[in-house]
Amino acid sequence: MSPAPANHPPQLVDRYGRVVSYVRISVTDRCDFRCVYCMAEDMEFLPRAQVLTLEELAYIGRAFVELGVQKIRLTGGEPLVRRNVIQLFRDLGALPLRELVLTTNGSQLPRMAQDLRDAGVRRVNISLDSLRPDRFRKITRVGDLHQVLAGIEAARRAGFERIKINAVILRHRNDDEVIDLVRYASDRGMDISFIEEMPLGIIGDHDRAEAYYSSDEVRRDIERVYTLTATTETTGGPSRYFRISETGTRVGFISPHSHNFCDTCNRVRLTVEGRLLLCLGQEHSVDLKRVVRANPGDLESLKQAIRDAMAIKPRGHEFDLAARPVIIRHMNVTGG
Ligand code: SAM
Ligand code: SF4
Repeated sequence: MSPAPANHPPQLVDRYGRVVSYVRISVTDRCDFRCVYCMAEDMEFLPRAQVLTLEELAYIGRAFVELGVQKIRLTGGEPLVRRNVIQLFRDLGALPLRELVLTTNGSQLPRMAQDLRDAGVRRVNISLDSLRPDRFRKITRVGDLHQVLAGIEAARRAGFERIKINAVILRHRNDDEVIDLVRYASDRGMDISFIEEMPLGIIGDHDRAEAYYSSDEVRRDIERVYTLTATTETTGGPSRYFRISETGTRVGFISPHSHNFCDTCNRVRLTVEGRLLLCLGQEHSVDLKRVVRANPGDLESLKQAIRDAMAIKPRGHEFDLAARPVIIRHMNVTGG
């Protein structure tokens, strides 16, 4: 089933006149992988009482849609490892959203891809940093490449409108696979985005400044083989898009360090603990879990808390690779 088009007027406008139309929701901090740039090897996960229930997540999603949000992305942690998560997709898929989308590591797609498509998910982003099984295992610490590749094939069969591969490129880890990943995506009619590593959380695996491989370097690697043409497409986020002239593949570069995107920011994030984060790189937040639990069934008080939150959305972020992370949250809690 495809969701109906958005029909709620925009009500979420911040101090700088930016309209918030996009919410990224982290549905769990847990994951079946331990990617080196995302998590420490020994992670302590949140106790269940601290995490929003699936019903609370659907309820908050409804409030956002009534406030004019048109796009919801479910992410995590790994959203598909949360028990019964398909019900949340069904509940959100029934709302008048323009787009319900998902970011996943792909491991559960062999069993879930078709149900997700049927629930109304239009597009999926699947993370894939290497096509070599041993290297894939090293980057994810525990992941099985073949399971993820089978997940990507299941997603292709399920008929999503678009599938995008997300790759984080790290120097001396997988920077020699840029072309192989582009070829893998374009051979299958998928898009691909390259993400620069962000300093979120203390990970203890590598020196982030040393491993940093910029979008400009990835672009230079691609242009040794293909012709890239800039497109004007924008998502109001940190992505710039190009097309490969030879194959038509869309290539995105997500570059929080090298290119400023804050002026057109249209998004907020909901953490798994129900904190509404107004900016990925800042700590400004509002505790929506408290609002929901203190006022059961009172959707208007929740909507008002979200409207009020717009007043503290900061103008922009301040990432600095050389400094220790000021943001102690890991990406799995924030929702990547
Ligand atoms: N588990 C799902 C996945 O891996 O796609 C969804 C959550 S994950 C946090 C979302 C995206 O964030 C993934 O593409 C991952 O590669 C990326 N990511 C995680 N930690 C990051 C970091 N420190 N810097 C940049 N990207 C990161
Ligand atoms: Fe899990 Fe995604 Fe983080 Fe990897 S990037 S550890 S798959 S949440």
